Amino acid sequence: MKDLGEPREASRSLRRNNRAIGSLPLNALPSTSDNLSSMPDFSIGVDLGGTNLRIAAVSGEGELLEKVTLGTKVALGPDHVFNEMCEAIQRLSNKHQTGGEFLGTGIGFPGIVDLQTGVLRKAANFPGWENYPVRAEIERRLGGKKSHTRVAVDNDARVAALGEQWRGAARGVESMAVLTLGTGIGGGIVLGGKIWHGMNGMAGEFGHVTIEPEGHPCGCGNRGCSEQYASASAIVRMAREAIAAGAAPALAQAASSDAEFGARSIYDLATQGDEPARRILQKFGRALGLLLAGLVNVLNLEMYVVGGGASSAWDAFAPSMFEELRRRSVVYAITAPTDPLESRTEGKTIITRALLGSDAGLYGAARAAVLAP
Ligand SMILES: [Zn+2]
Repeated sequence: MKDLGEPREASRSLRRNNRAIGSLPLNALPSTSDNLSSMPDFSIGVDLGGTNLRIAAVSGEGELLEKVTLGTKVALGPDHVFNEMCEAIQRLSNKHQTGGEFLGTGIGFPGIVDLQTGVLRKAANFPGWENYPVRAEIERRLGGKKSHTRVAVDNDARVAALGEQWRGAARGVESMAVLTLGTGIGGGIVLGGKIWHGMNGMAGEFGHVTIEPEGHPCGCGNRGCSEQYASASAIVRMAREAIAAGAAPALAQAASSDAEFGARSIYDLATQGDEPARRILQKFGRALGLLLAGLVNVLNLEMYVVGGGASSAWDAFAPSMFEELRRRSVVYAITAPTDPLESRTEGKTIITRALLGSDAGLYGAARAAVLAP
């Protein structure tokens, strides 16, 4: 699904504020050129997706300096991908290093990363990558300790949460959570401007919170996980079920005539008033509301940001999401703003849409490199 939202351009004053709260003072280390240089210190963020590899140089103040996309084939295995990735990282860092200090590299992986050892433990969509020592392999290719660059590896949804907190919908909000609604549900919690990793990096698995005890089986082995009801693939599954039951003629017609039939087509039918399609997105909204209600009750954060491809169906699912949230969460009922769509208000729980789209992962990975110990 294509994101409908576009990132807002950062204002100059916000850039200045971020400079003040950054963990590393700019120009703390001698620059390779003279002090009058206007080239900023920067870090590199990498987002490793199933179809392409995106790499960005981001200034310490959060300004995107350059972004490159490589059509790297994940199926060719980690050695091939890491060679291409590290060549591109080196090209970018050499280019921007002429004036600013290179602060490090952050990489988000679609799987569970052991933060202590830097090993990718589980990656459902990347067969053959399991137990690959991702941090050590990247450090080795970038010149190891000699290069003096830090390498931070993390889960892609966690770094995307950090990106939204740093430069996106939650800019200026210290503690928040992000739910990324894609094929599954990714998540991340940011406390005091840093990713909350839990004991070993697994905090934020919102997609596997049970919301339907005897519900649809999930790939994790459980039944009724939230991502079986509030993800883009759940929308398609619910549509196929409605078609199979003979209760959705317009959906059946779209599914047979449209080769790219997916969550987007179902959303389009819902906005045209098709009742079965509307019901699917309402069910999706209620499931998301249920999940959020649990998070709001437990965490009592200032802001919850909803992103990912399926979040572009916001206007179709938000009313039932807010209704469910109010009904299920006493904390939300007490702290809800009068208008649920209100932006940040002191003491109120704000549920809002992500702003950065797929760039959140790039900003967050670049930020994670700077925050890494
Ligand atoms: Zn699950």
